[in-house]
Amino acid sequence: MARQLSIFDEDEPTGAAPQTGAEVAPEARVVELNNLLHRYAHDYYALDAPSVSDAEFDRLVRELRDLEAAHPELVTPASYTQHVGGSVSEQFAPVTHARRMFSIDDAMGLAELDAWLERTDRELGATAEHPVAYTCELKIDGLGVAITYDDGTFIRAATRGDGAVGEDVTANVRTLKDVPYALHTAPLDAMANGRATPLEVRGEVYMPKASFVHLNAERDRLGESVFANPRNAAAGSLRQKNPKITAGRDLETFIYAVAEPELVPVSSQHAFLGWLAELGLSVNRNFRLCTSAKEVHAYCERALERRGELEYDIDGVVVKVDDFALQAELGFTARAPRWAIAFKFPPEERESVLRDIRIQVGRTGVLTPVADFDPVFVAGSTIAHATLHNLDEIHKKDVRVGDTIVVHKAGDVIPEVVGPVEAKRPADAVPFEMPVVCPSCGSPVVHELGEVAYRCISIDCPAQTAERLEHWVSRKAMDVDGMGRELIGRLIRFGFVRDVADLYALTEEDLAALPTDRTYSSDGKGHEKGDPVPTGRKTAEKVMAQLEASKHRPLARLLFGLGIRHVGASVAEALAGTFGSIEALRGATEEELCEVEGVGPTMAAAISEFFRTPQNLEVLERLRQAGVSVADEIPLSGEERPQPLAGKTFVLTGTLEGMTRDEAGAALKALGAKVAGSVSKKTSYVVAGPGAGSKLAKAQSLGVPVLDRAALDAILATGELPE
Ligand code: NAD
Repeated sequence: MARQLSIFDEDEPTGAAPQTGAEVAPEARVVELNNLLHRYAHDYYALDAPSVSDAEFDRLVRELRDLEAAHPELVTPASYTQHVGGSVSEQFAPVTHARRMFSIDDAMGLAELDAWLERTDRELGATAEHPVAYTCELKIDGLGVAITYDDGTFIRAATRGDGAVGEDVTANVRTLKDVPYALHTAPLDAMANGRATPLEVRGEVYMPKASFVHLNAERDRLGESVFANPRNAAAGSLRQKNPKITAGRDLETFIYAVAEPELVPVSSQHAFLGWLAELGLSVNRNFRLCTSAKEVHAYCERALERRGELEYDIDGVVVKVDDFALQAELGFTARAPRWAIAFKFPPEERESVLRDIRIQVGRTGVLTPVADFDPVFVAGSTIAHATLHNLDEIHKKDVRVGDTIVVHKAGDVIPEVVGPVEAKRPADAVPFEMPVVCPSCGSPVVHELGEVAYRCISIDCPAQTAERLEHWVSRKAMDVDGMGRELIGRLIRFGFVRDVADLYALTEEDLAALPTDRTYSSDGKGHEKGDPVPTGRKTAEKVMAQLEASKHRPLARLLFGLGIRHVGASVAEALAGTFGSIEALRGATEEELCEVEGVGPTMAAAISEFFRTPQNLEVLERLRQAGVSVADEIPLSGEERPQPLAGKTFVLTGTLEGMTRDEAGAALKALGAKVAGSVSKKTSYVVAGPGAGSKLAKAQSLGVPVLDRAALDAILATGELPE
């Protein structure tokens, strides 16, 4: 009887190297592999937080596939090999696809690709005179979505889910700039069946590499967990309950497929891609039509060689039989089309030796361990450092100083330690522990229950001061051009600044005289050889002008710049929009804060805590006295603008034709109303447009009056509320 291995024991570390098939009976190994794969797939698809590398995951899939090929009696309908990997979270409404969405079988290496090409050529009866044509496309590393247009108008978007049923992400996809609301009509008129049947196109939502780097840097700064790669960042950003969060992330699309090919006026993949572009959809132009294995190889090799130059991550090449009729002839297996293959790029990984795990102290006091390793050349550049994020991550990977480690670049950009080569571990390597005192200021380090981060909570920690000031002057915050890390470092070192308010007490003289790190090479007017060169009047003037200008930034930037824990730029925007001033925000209860879009209990607690801390209030008061604007001005026309909607709270949901919800919200606020993100008993009115979902349902269940677009227009025009 098969030995039932328990792989979910509590004490087994997540992602532990599974046993190799050689030691276990095939039956048991098939069960074990399926358990592992289903668990890893759940972490990857449902939680957007993979617990093993893609290479490791793919290795396990192949092992299972090989075992099943050798023992066909072990294949069950529940096997991972018989399914499209994803799942459908209850967070989203289910959407049944017009036709199943499939995965694509892999070819690892050119030999496997050739075998597939040969087999496909043979099945389709290719000859030297009539070769089968293949369209080669880049395999975009994002997540698959289906987008439906009805009569040329965007109506719905869904994730791939389990292939048959996906998750409704309409509101989120609606925020993507390159997804048109209306398709160009001319090519639509050419549709084979006229315009009556909705058109479901399919493609990939992805996050450009630069945006991924930016997002992770921001999350790291806020002490939040980071995304493993652009694909997970895209999935995590799209699968949000709050579309505002999606809107704040830079997501883009490439469309490459259609649910029902018979509906479109073209009969081949390459022509179809051209037609999609004519419709106004975003299409990746790097596809090529190939008629021989040699041409397909050349395409794959070039894609592999030049992938680093692309602004988005690709993980291979998809080769598709070009002719739709031939595609139909080949059909599908349970999980993938027979007419396409994904040539997967080998993961670019290198070995190095971990020399040190250094601690960096961030703006919010979070201690971040950083790996310092021997420099290695990976994916186009030399790397020698990688963040290890936090202690949990180090323990999960079990990397130790002295280990030989495998490194790669996540999403082709961010250096990452994949894990140790345990066979090469030195006998004296010990597990890493966090320091008990802050390496920057020597204060005790705290580790709050339920948090991954270790923090230095000293207000005087110089490492934090520098980071806080850098954040304050950064482009998305108060945007003080000319005030960079180096100048801030000197201002701290010479005792001019300890917090952001000190910046506004600086004088031009102080700045001009501030010593730089350079020294004079000879005696001169008023200085001797070896004296430090001062910053100089010109720089001082420029920085002072910038500081002055920063006093008048919108409230959202100030809020973001304060670096309140968990408050990123988009939430700062929402808070500023709702409360309008620091005073009003300070007076808000946690319950009221939670009504703002994007604010949950943790964030509300962090905001309240910020305003309860005397040092923070003192800094805010000094900022105010220095003339820094702590409230947004509502433009007044002549006398004070009337506020007929004061005391009323509105919630906006669904699509409001001709106006975004933000615009509608701003117009209501200008008349004195409050605009909240969720419906409660305190909500006065819900304005609902097409596509309204749970908020409308909640309003109806609570008996909150629901207004349509016409009623909203009437309120905005007259300032009068309906009877
Ligand atoms: P896949 O990503 O290997 O290939 C199929 C998908 O490719 C399609 O569904 C489509 O969304 C996408 N695609 C991108 N460009 C395309 C193009 N031009 N034409 C057609 N399709 C294109 O298959 P999959 O089933 O989505 O996922 C498997 C992948 O996910 C593997 O790479 C695996 O490593 C990874 N994965 C990793 C983990 C983990 O724990 N690390 C878990 C599950 C899956």
